[in-house]
Parts: sequence; structure tokens; C-alpha cells
Amino acid sequence: MTRVVIVGAGVGGLGAGVRLTAAGCDVLVLEAAAQVGGKLGIARSEGHTFDTGPSLLTMPFTLEETLATAGVTLSDRLDVRRVDPLCQYHWDDGTALATHADPDATAAAFEALEHGAGQAWHRLLAQGRRTWDLSLPLFLSAAISGPIELARRSGRPINPRDILAHTTLERYGARHFRDPRLRQLLDRYATYSGSDPARAPATLSVIPYTESAYGAWHPIGGMHRIAQVLSDVIREQGGELRCSTPVTRIVTEHGSAVGVETAAGEVFPADAVIANCDAADLYEGLVSAPKQAAQIAAAPASLSGFVLMLGVAGRTPGLAHHNIWFPRDYRAEFADIFDDPRPPNTPTIYLCNPVATDPSCAPDGDESWFVLVNAPRHGQVDWDAEGERYQERILDRLDALGLRARERARTIIRRTPADLERLTGAPGGSIYGTASMGPRAAFLRPRNASPAFERLYLASGSAHPGGGLPLVLLSGKIAADLICRDLELTDAA
Ligand SMILES: Cc1cc2nc3c(=O)[nH]c(=O)nc-3n(C[C@H](O)[C@H](O)[C@H](O)COP(=O)(O)OP(=O)(O)OC[C@H]3O[C@@H](n4cnc5c(N)ncnc54)[C@H](O)[C@@H]3O)c2cc1C
Repeated sequence: MTRVVIVGAGVGGLGAGVRLTAAGCDVLVLEAAAQVGGKLGIARSEGHTFDTGPSLLTMPFTLEETLATAGVTLSDRLDVRRVDPLCQYHWDDGTALATHADPDATAAAFEALEHGAGQAWHRLLAQGRRTWDLSLPLFLSAAISGPIELARRSGRPINPRDILAHTTLERYGARHFRDPRLRQLLDRYATYSGSDPARAPATLSVIPYTESAYGAWHPIGGMHRIAQVLSDVIREQGGELRCSTPVTRIVTEHGSAVGVETAAGEVFPADAVIANCDAADLYEGLVSAPKQAAQIAAAPASLSGFVLMLGVAGRTPGLAHHNIWFPRDYRAEFADIFDDPRPPNTPTIYLCNPVATDPSCAPDGDESWFVLVNAPRHGQVDWDAEGERYQERILDRLDALGLRARERARTIIRRTPADLERLTGAPGGSIYGTASMGPRAAFLRPRNASPAFERLYLASGSAHPGGGLPLVLLSGKIAADLICRDLELTDAA
């Protein structure tokens, strides 16, 4: 039986584990932390439950397809509910706007702010669909080594304009909207890949299309349930998961990965190894691959996040599931993160209030808030020194928005970029590995089949095709497919 060891029980590792156990492999997942899920973690306090990372599930078909390889139906395991509106936006001039999966509803809201913006939104979604239809089969679902291979696969050279790689998201938004609020709304999608809209390719405008086409979803019980279900399916199919088991070395022989060694000194032989840990850690720490390590170090890192989880008394009138408050000067926020790193002075506030969809997350009549602001990496800022002070600044901001956070909070959990690094192994707390900045960024992500060693594969948000749960599940699919191909397993994963 083919033995595969997976280093890390993040979603990419777990998704690959489901597919490979389904393909008949003997799978062992080794996880450094005490719980599975990685960034998709969970925290509890005073009867409140908090997702510590992702709060928005898009493209649920990636999860459905992963489970289906094991004959499991998503709806049998998870009660996944549609979230509407997609997001409630606020500006400091008092404007509020809700976006919806229904394009006409969002277009009407845009039109109310700017004449013609409704049509512009429809045009943007139509182009997003074309970009998506091209990207999903060619680029997002398969291993890739560069534009030449992409052209070979598609049968013709890909024009960067077809996938909007020729311009930035910021410029693209300015071509569609005059109203600075609507531009800001579009620019925010750069942060879905941890990037600066002034440098990120307009390709990221495909995200609003996917949100519109596939909706936004929430599993009852919390997002972390996704990691639990994936783990259950691996076990049910005979795979093994061990938590609190950090891997310290990938054992290589004659240029091939042949097993792993743990901190306790145990060695597990393997026919193939999947690294679900961050690609920088893999190439700097677990194997010796100076060329790959240098390539990653040369690329700009994605942003991190400063998180407060608040268990608050009572319900907040008008609070949606997903809420955003924009600052007046959005550019200053990105300058504080990427150009002259410091804790952003007036950051955009994202507040997830899952009770709007799922009352099980808080005691009766109360709310569990997940508040996230974009932040520079730990190392660029000493977040262990800054954390407490910045918490006060964010609480001030929440109070200024009228949310009475201090008065209502029964419990507050803080997660700085430094905590994210310690808890999930993400270097500097970067959420998405390297950022998607520049027209070629997508081709520069670490590859799923390691060029450094045979039988070593990468499945994570820091590798191809990128971060965020849907892409990470696709990363797991690509790694599993490569293993099936390379080891000539009959059941494709
Ligand atoms: C605050 C925040 C908000 C987010 N919001 C969203 C969202 O709304 N929607 C969305 O889709 N995505 C969101 N994301 C991104 C999403 O969480 C990640 O892209 C995804 O979970 C990453 O999965 P991964 O497979 O790369 O593994 P990770 O989650 O990075 O997990 C890797 C695992 O490997 C383990 N590991 C590392 N080194 C070792 C070792 N040497 N030995 C053993 N184990 C090791 C780690 O402990 C960890 O458990 C968010 C992330 C954060 C942090």
C-alpha cells in the first residue's frame, strides 16, 4: 500500500488526505498544534465560540468535490447556510451599502451612489466570469510552471488582458467607478490574497464574480467544523492523524523524499510526503533547498491580521453577519502595511457576527464578534510589544462606531500576527504566504511538485494556486493528483 505522510493538518493537508485515503493510500497526518485546522482554528470563552481565522466560505463546490471523492455528501455532515447580504459596508460619511449574491440587488445599491455604476458592476461581473472560466480549468485546478506551459495547455498563448493581469486592481476599479467609495469596495478584494490593490493584478476582480455566482456560506457550529469533518473522513477511511507532533525534518535520499522525522525523534518512512506547512518553512527548515528558499524570500510577503474576539452582551440592531467600516484614507492603510510598516493608524474594521446566521455561537441573546484588521507582519512590527496598545486603539474605534464594545464585552481574546505565527507556523503571521503583487505573481508561487526533491509535494495556501479555503482545497487536489500520477495509482484522487 502506498504510504503518504502529510506535514500539517491545515485545510490543504486535510483535503489532500481525504482524496488520497479515497484513492487507497495509507495516509498519516502529523500536526504540530494540539488541534487540527491550522488557521481554520476555534477558540471558546465564557460560553462564546469563535472561529479564529476564516469566517467566509465561498465556492463550497471545492469542499463538496473533496468530500465526494470519499463518497461523502457535504449536506450529510454539515448544515451549511447561505449568508445574505454578502457584506454590509459603512463609510465615515454615514453611507451604508449592502452587497448581495444577486447581481441586480448589488447593482441597484451601486447605482444609488453613482449614476451608471450599476451597469459598470454588471460589466465587471461579466468580465469576472470570462476570467474565471479561463482560470479555473487551466490555472487553478492543475499544477503549473509558467506562462509557456499555460499556453501549451490552452492550445494558444494567453493574452494577459484575458485574465486582467495587464493592470492593477486599483486602476481597474477607477476605470469602472468614479465614486471613491465604490473604488474602495473593489480595492478591498486585494486583501483576499493579502495584497495591496495598487500592486495586485486586476485578475482579483474575479472574486466578486465568484461570490455572486457561488454565494457566501456559513456552516452551523462554526467554520472550524469544516476541519473536523475532513479529519473525520480521513479517519473513517483508515487514515491516521496525530496532533502535537511537530515534524523537524523531511528525510531525503538520492534526491527523493523518503519519510519524515518528528521532534520526538520518530521516523516515519513514506513513498511520498506532502508539506502543508508554509512553503518558506519547508524550504528553510525541513529540507535543504537554498534556491527555493531564496525565491520565496525575494517575493513580497502577504499581509497579516490583528484579531480581537469579543463575547458581547446583547444583540446589535442592524449588525449583519459580515460588516466593514472603511477609513477615509484607504491608501494610508496600505502604506502602513507594505511601505513603511507600522500598526495602521485608522484601519478598515471587519467585524464578523456569525450569530446573525448561527445563534449557536453565543449564549442566548448575545453575540460573538470576530474583529479583524489588516496588519504588517510580525518582525516588521514587534507585535508582542504593540499588541496591548493596539487592542485599546481598536476598542476605541469600535466604541466610536457606536458599538459600545468595552461596555458590552464579557470576554476578549487577542491574536496578533506574532500569535498567528506561533499558533499556525505562518512566518511573520503572513496569512497567504507570498502576496499576489505584479503581473507574474501567480506564476511565482511555490509549485505543488517540489523542484528540489522527487516525491515531495506542496498543498497549502502558501503554494499554488494560493490562499483562502477554496484555493487551498484546490491545492490539496493538485498535490493528490500529482501523487496518483507519479506513483501510478489507479484510483485518481
Ligand atoms: C485571520 C484570518 C482570516 C481569514 N479569513 C478567511 C476567509 O474568510 N475565507 C477564506 O477562505 N480564507 C480565510 N483565511 C485564509 C485561510 O485560513 C487559509 O488560506 C487556509 O486556512 C490555509 O490553509 P493551509 O492548508 O495552507 O494550512 P494552514 O492553515 O496554514 O495550516 C498549516 C498547518 O501545518 C502545521 N505545521 C506547520 N509546520 C509544521 C511542522 N513542522 N510539523 C507539523 N505540522 C506543522 C501548522 O501547525 C498548521 O496547523 C483567513 C486566515 C486568517 C488567519
